[in-house]
Amino acid sequence: VIGVRLSIRGTVQGVGFRPWIARLASRCGARGRVWNDGLGVTLELHGGDAEIASLVNGLSADLPPAAAITSVSAESIAHRWLEGFEIVASDAEGAAQISFPADLAICEICRSEIHDPKNRRFRYAFTNCTHCGPRYTIVERLPYDRASTTMSNFRLCPICHEEYTNIRDRRFHAEPNACPSCGPKLWLLDAAGKAIRSLDPIRSAAEAICAGQIVALKGIGGFHLAVDATDQEAVLRLRLRKRREAKPLAVMVATVEDAERLALLSEEERRCLLSVERPIVIASRREVTPLAPSIAQDARTVGLILAYSPLHILLVEATGRPLVMTSGNLADEPIARTTEEAQTKLGGVVDLILTHDREIKNRIDDSVVRVVAKKPLLLRRARGFVPRSISLSRPFARPVVAAGGLLKNTFCVGHDAEAILGPHIGDLDDADALATFEEALERLLGLLRISPEVIAHDLHPDFWSTRWAQNQRCPLTFAIQHHHAHVVSVAADNGLEGPVLGFAWDGAGLGADGSSWGGELLLATFEGYRRIATFRPIALAGGDRAIREVWRVAIAAFDDALGNDMPWDRLALFKGVTGRRKEEVRQVIDRGLAQRAHGVGRWFDALGAILFDSESARYEGEVAVRLEHAADPGERRSYRFDFERDTEVIEVDLRPMLRAVVDDLTKHVHLGTIAARFHETLILAAREMVRFAVRDHGRLPVVLGGGCFQNARLAEGVMEAIAADGLKPFLPRRSPPGDGGISLGQAVIADALARRVAGK
Ligand SMILES: [Zn+2]
Ligand SMILES: [Zn+2]
Ligand SMILES: [Zn+2]
Repeated sequence: VIGVRLSIRGTVQGVGFRPWIARLASRCGARGRVWNDGLGVTLELHGGDAEIASLVNGLSADLPPAAAITSVSAESIAHRWLEGFEIVASDAEGAAQISFPADLAICEICRSEIHDPKNRRFRYAFTNCTHCGPRYTIVERLPYDRASTTMSNFRLCPICHEEYTNIRDRRFHAEPNACPSCGPKLWLLDAAGKAIRSLDPIRSAAEAICAGQIVALKGIGGFHLAVDATDQEAVLRLRLRKRREAKPLAVMVATVEDAERLALLSEEERRCLLSVERPIVIASRREVTPLAPSIAQDARTVGLILAYSPLHILLVEATGRPLVMTSGNLADEPIARTTEEAQTKLGGVVDLILTHDREIKNRIDDSVVRVVAKKPLLLRRARGFVPRSISLSRPFARPVVAAGGLLKNTFCVGHDAEAILGPHIGDLDDADALATFEEALERLLGLLRISPEVIAHDLHPDFWSTRWAQNQRCPLTFAIQHHHAHVVSVAADNGLEGPVLGFAWDGAGLGADGSSWGGELLLATFEGYRRIATFRPIALAGGDRAIREVWRVAIAAFDDALGNDMPWDRLALFKGVTGRRKEEVRQVIDRGLAQRAHGVGRWFDALGAILFDSESARYEGEVAVRLEHAADPGERRSYRFDFERDTEVIEVDLRPMLRAVVDDLTKHVHLGTIAARFHETLILAAREMVRFAVRDHGRLPVVLGGGCFQNARLAEGVMEAIAADGLKPFLPRRSPPGDGGISLGQAVIADALARRVAGK
């Protein structure tokens, strides 16, 4: 007989791991005990060699669905005679450096229970078990057990207590375990915050939705706003009140069959919809659907999400129709978390509030996924993923915090070989968003018991994230160039330690020379980069205004390409733009006062403004999205472009393309054909950029970063072109390609720079 102590690391808390071990041990006949420690799970086993060996072998098979083991280390200990096997109280000592659980979508068994009139949890909105339910959103501290969650206020009734303590029960140590007699309860409020009597709040909310009203409901990570997705008037009213003019809205349905009625789903898209993270999946919309047109204007796609909590399932089923399910916030503000926030911030938006008394500790939005090149690409990494860590091939020398950028901000905490991306904060452009950022970061650092020794921020001096970073007064603070961060983020995500060739194609980011970059091909390592190629810049007259008012970049780009030959008066675009405003833009450019912008996003804007007669973009990237949707899938020809090779950085000159576009327009070539040729031109330009780089620097892996690669046609085209040249292309898979992913790159780069400074 021997004794062994195993330290198990990975996603092993809050996923039913200890009960699973306990059942395994009793099957193997091993005696011992198991507990959550600050780092994961500790397991002590006592028994014969054979029993212990069979248990250790069992660790690699049939794990609980959401569990993942990253490492197991063993030491031998003195043998003790223990009776059977038990789960003992958690050990709260030591640095908590673990991967703690993200929220889990409802499992099939719990789903059948809430549908079973004979079950005591029939239609109970807070049903969960060891394999499903809220986790990150209710945790106050680690280790993860009931006393550390917002469920600690609810005393288990005798039946729930029996489930919780019986090792044979599927709710054994389900920390948020609850039932109608002992758990959280629902109630309704009107827009003014006055309680409304209802015997069945879910049914009352469903009736309100079916009558065209807007209902706020408290979900897992915050409040959602729900309306009938087939009611055009209701959707328009929601847009108006929420101040969300045009950005597509997500649609929630109860089952994957319901989703198939609205979209054509690939196998991978079905898998994503049904995954335990339950993200919003951007899929191809069917031509005929009952959806209101204003859900997504002239888009070929629709964002679908399956109801993932009992409350959402019961509500969607009670309405019997697809529902718009969008974050409970105004424009790009943080999502409302408490009932008080919902009343004060959403009072003017909603007709009814469906709330409850299970407190949300950590706010988080729904995640967004799009299948690109046959694999999921995370457009927004939030519920279901956060705070799961991204394991890296090279460990951090010291704990790092990276503050991210301006748009779609996330922060990143790096320690050991793990990077933890925080929740999607949204645009970090006011004090409210900064408070949300600080709250989420402090909570995560507290949970992990980490204090950063290295801080990273963007090169841009005026970002709120930059100012936050500088205020920390940390001696090892580094400003990281935006596109270097994009490239290293994708490299680290894919386990590449560099050097790599990296595309960073996005809207804007401050370059080292003071101009705005975003059409870059970099040769990059974690320590530094060299700019190999970019696009000829467009003058950005009016700075940030030129990013929204896309007619400004259209004038700059087409003037540059065609000068006086540009047939402006024949274009519908400038109906609303007076000659005087046009002249103002030209004067700013002529005097050299406009910033120079290399971003591929600006080329999308310039072209899209002309093709769609659109004066301005109503949300970030709108024009690019429209161009992608318009592009004819069958058209493979491209336009001509030039290279400027005399400059230190090779410049792709797209002016010949613009001249050809104007030619096509005058010949009335279909817009879909022009949009497709534009995409093909960028793909060809990417291939040529890489060929130049390979000549000088050899055959390196090629990574694709930046928001432009959310565009499936562009991303897949560039991937194919690079692969056709015998090189290996990579998209990010665990972090977003857009600005929501740059904090990962910032953290990795800052670690490399800190090692150099501190000589380690
Ligand atoms: Zn369950
Ligand atoms: Zn109970
Ligand atoms: Zn960017």
